[in-house]
Amino acid sequence: MRRFLLLSLLLALALRAAPARAQEGPVEYTVQPGDTLLLIAQRFDVPISLLAQANDLTDPNLIQVGRTLVIPDAAQARNATAPVSTVWGGERLRLLMDVSQAARAHLEAFGLGAASGLPGRAMPLLMRDAHLPQPFIRLDAPDAIVQGETGVVWITSLAPFTPTGAFQGRKLVFIGDGPSLLGYRFFALLPTGALDKPGLKKLMVHIGPATTEKNIEIEAGVYETQHIVLPPGKGGLLEPDKLKAERERLYALWRQVSGPPRWARPFRFPIAEGFPRTSPYGTRRSYNGGPVSSFHAGSDWGAPEGTPILAPAPGVIVLAEPLFVRGGAVIIDHGAGVYSNFWHMSQIDVKPGDEVRTGDQLGLVGTTGLSTGAHLHWEIRVNAVAVDPMQWTEETFP
Ligand SMILES: [Zn+2]
Repeated sequence: MRRFLLLSLLLALALRAAPARAQEGPVEYTVQPGDTLLLIAQRFDVPISLLAQANDLTDPNLIQVGRTLVIPDAAQARNATAPVSTVWGGERLRLLMDVSQAARAHLEAFGLGAASGLPGRAMPLLMRDAHLPQPFIRLDAPDAIVQGETGVVWITSLAPFTPTGAFQGRKLVFIGDGPSLLGYRFFALLPTGALDKPGLKKLMVHIGPATTEKNIEIEAGVYETQHIVLPPGKGGLLEPDKLKAERERLYALWRQVSGPPRWARPFRFPIAEGFPRTSPYGTRRSYNGGPVSSFHAGSDWGAPEGTPILAPAPGVIVLAEPLFVRGGAVIIDHGAGVYSNFWHMSQIDVKPGDEVRTGDQLGLVGTTGLSTGAHLHWEIRVNAVAVDPMQWTEETFP
């Protein structure tokens, strides 16, 4: 009897969960002015992710007035078993959840959302999708990144949690890009160093209890190896303690993330055009016949002493002083954990706390610190990883 009651209760719940639809099979709907994907999903009592999936909507901007959408049968989708992996917009997403876990995640999101003062519209959306066959998480990331280059991963999810994740043993720093029609969007930069090992690397992203992952190929870059023999006289500059103290101070600074990006365009080149590149980013270095243990973290340009150095992008000055190894130094915080660094300067025209715009003068080229001639050393650090700055002059991140 007890079992029968339980069964009836479950049956009643299942019937209650079924949508009120007169029609059988798929229904079509023509997008009207003022419609959003969310409104249409609510009108037909269909999870927004299912609606997007059924119409292959990879971009919310793709719903145009007059377009015919297929309204999938939500009841059928609910009864279907959750696939372990699904092909979504040509991409392979592995979703490590079953139906009940998905429901729990969304309800948790709902609970958390109410507590953290999220916009009210997030709630019906999350409630409605609590019966999703799988959580709606979309991961966009490149298939391959060349050593030394910066990539980007985008996450779109119905849960307003900030994702966490890791790539090549480095923790990802996710930054919110606000809600969109398909859910909440976050991005993280994927910096790679010139000595990162080539091969397939797993990108893992977690949102609440959900995990999604993608394999990204690290491709070998073309970098020379320099064999540097240090003259005994320069040995004094390579005192390990002073070197280590300077490095640790800089790494502590580079690991800070002050907020969202302050830039909106590719970075401008920080000196006038036409000076020769004397040492590119990524050149591997072996000292006094030892193994390759480091690489050139920036790009060197042979400009004469006194050449003005200009801010490549907007930001805030976080360091402006002479350093032991790097000489006259200026560091700009561009937001999102991205820093421009200029070493060996002969003059510094800014101070910590200054806000700079693209093109503002930072100081002059010099040969201070561990340097053998006047040159500009420009280095970009992304979450403390030294990446090729030239890519940042060609592409807009994220
Ligand atoms: Zn250099």
